[in-house]
Amino acid sequence: MNPLIDPFGRAITYLRVSVTDRCDLRCIYCMRARMRFLPREELLSLEELDRVCAAFVERGVKRIRFTGGEPLVRKGFLDLVQRVARHIGDGLDEVTVTTNGVQLAEFAAPLYRAGVRRVNVSVDSLDRETFARIARRDRLTEVLNGIAEAKRAGLQVKINTVALKHDNAHEIPDLVKWAHAQGMDITLIETMPLGEIDEDRTDQFLSLARIREDMQSYWTLHDLPDRSGGPARFVRVEETGGRLGFITPLTHNFCESCSRVRLTCTGQLYPCLGHEKSVDLRQPLRSGDNDMALHGAIDDAIAIRPKGHDFLIERLSHPATARHMSVTGG
Ligand code: SAM
Ligand code: SF4
Repeated sequence: MNPLIDPFGRAITYLRVSVTDRCDLRCIYCMRARMRFLPREELLSLEELDRVCAAFVERGVKRIRFTGGEPLVRKGFLDLVQRVARHIGDGLDEVTVTTNGVQLAEFAAPLYRAGVRRVNVSVDSLDRETFARIARRDRLTEVLNGIAEAKRAGLQVKINTVALKHDNAHEIPDLVKWAHAQGMDITLIETMPLGEIDEDRTDQFLSLARIREDMQSYWTLHDLPDRSGGPARFVRVEETGGRLGFITPLTHNFCESCSRVRLTCTGQLYPCLGHEKSVDLRQPLRSGDNDMALHGAIDDAIAIRPKGHDFLIERLSHPATARHMSVTGG
């Protein structure tokens, strides 16, 4: 099978898979308070997800990250992880999960047993009230327990924090200190214009370039050469000793080294997070057991992979794409 190389010579080695659009939180930058979720028959079944992951491993994908929505609310998720993890050491290097951590206490040890070694947990505040305001649910205690349990189970935990001008800007240095004190990397994310939400995104947008500048007035940041194959850039904070990432899709162009593609929970393959163009894999998956049509559709998606994304700060209040991050998989 041919490896996946896009028209600009970039090899596709990383697949992010949204396994559900549903979630047990309703973060203000991600969803509306009242979300209408997709009918179940529109979602790829666990068998279909397994087949599609196997097809990508055959084509050279080395890392698969499961996300959502909230992956831990998908029934049978552990089975899927177990099945996909059978390719580890046989083409695939790792299977990772991005979760909000609400149910992680229960899932941590089973995920480890299934073959997962690293999880990303999203934490936007360590203050119970602020957390509840951002997530529209009072679940900070569960998330912190989940993180503790994950570490106990042997999982390496990385924290993701979305930087929000009004809600958590003042707390970011504390979040970094907290993560580093526990030996966890932390990555800050700028809000991206994905899907309609109840608020105005321009109002909450906080430039990470600005945060970084502020931090340099009290910390020493050393640039690191580490690349994740995605949009993050990393520094070492001398004072805490920990690693800090910045995901700045709006103020920094990360596309030249991007090796990622994304599969939505309905089977749309998006070769770029910031573009509307996608190719449907569900129909070829459902057309029979033969994976020829599936591989053809994957090739079609890679062939339309654009050179770079389309996000612009001026367009923050008008979503660049109609789909929410929860469908595409953040
Ligand atoms: N529910 C899981 C979680 O929150 O980690 C996994 C899915 S969530 C869509 C993945 C990541 O995307 C989270 O870190 C979340 O904060 C981030 N995210 C969601 N919507 C976003 C947006 N519009 N802009 C930037 N980041 C976003
Ligand atoms: Fe759910 Fe994650 Fe979106 Fe928050 S960011 S609403 S936890 S999918």
